Amino acid sequence: MKRSAAKPFVVGIDLGGTKILAAVFDHRHRLLVREKKSTKPELGADAVLNRIAECVNEALAVSAVAHSSVAGIGVGVPGMVDTRTGTVRVAPNLQWQNVPFAKLLGARLRIPVTVVNDVQAGTTAVQQFGAGRTLRDFVCMFIGTGIGGGIVLGGQQYRGSAGMGGEIGHMAVIADGGPKCGCGNRGCLEAVASRGAIVRRVIEEMKDGRKTLVRDLCDRDPRRIRSRIIAEAYLEGDKLVREIINDACEYVGIGAANLINVLNPQAVILGGGLIEALGDKMLPRIRKSAWRHVIGATSERVNIIDCGLGDDAGIIGAALLARPPVK
Ligand SMILES: [Zn+2]
Repeated sequence: MKRSAAKPFVVGIDLGGTKILAAVFDHRHRLLVREKKSTKPELGADAVLNRIAECVNEALAVSAVAHSSVAGIGVGVPGMVDTRTGTVRVAPNLQWQNVPFAKLLGARLRIPVTVVNDVQAGTTAVQQFGAGRTLRDFVCMFIGTGIGGGIVLGGQQYRGSAGMGGEIGHMAVIADGGPKCGCGNRGCLEAVASRGAIVRRVIEEMKDGRKTLVRDLCDRDPRRIRSRIIAEAYLEGDKLVREIINDACEYVGIGAANLINVLNPQAVILGGGLIEALGDKMLPRIRKSAWRHVIGATSERVNIIDCGLGDDAGIIGAALLARPPVK
């Protein structure tokens, strides 16, 4: 019997600094069940690994899939990973260094584990199932806690000479100063346009006494602010949130224009929780900003579009990378 027939299912996990998303996929890569848990990185790697295992067990139980029918688990991790050994080298949001992740999670679940970078997983999903399906040259921008980038040239993901390429969140978009970025520099795109940066600015303005619907939407607990709350306030016409989102769109547009001018892609494809929640409002503004900075006739041929996978790109891609090749 073929291996793929005996074990038709795979599991995809998107491990973020805030939440763990796990989903079970069938033999045609259809998403069956999605489970979510908070990450709680402050409890340490062991506790996070237990939470991931619980999340997978719950997703398998709800979808009535036995562990023995799962061919593999793919995990997208926000950091540098050694895909060969399954070790997470560095993951700043989790405060991890050299965690033998595949081995530790595999021992808990008794299913083979593949570890990849989260943005690489998301880009793979866009390439195979999303808006990049029919394209050979495109750039992905995932707007979440940070801003991740995937560059696909000639149908292949480009990672640079040392595998560090695609860090579009750290393109400088403010020349003199600007907010400090997680990377230590100032004025990076991520420091002004990521969901993290947007939330930080909302909180600062709230502390300064600015009126905003966010205050009530998060029950006066800023730790509860998520993309959904930002989107709700925006759609209700909240002046502060609109101002901050519009500024973020300006900067994302500048970033997209820089990528378009340098790489001449067929499309810039946007994804992540904020785009899932507010894409139809943000995309026109992002395009308008980008076209102001794109050279000559290039804009005629480039699309700036939604990835079409919502916030699921990470789990879809991670699960794909865990699927054994069909013989
Ligand atoms: Zn940076």
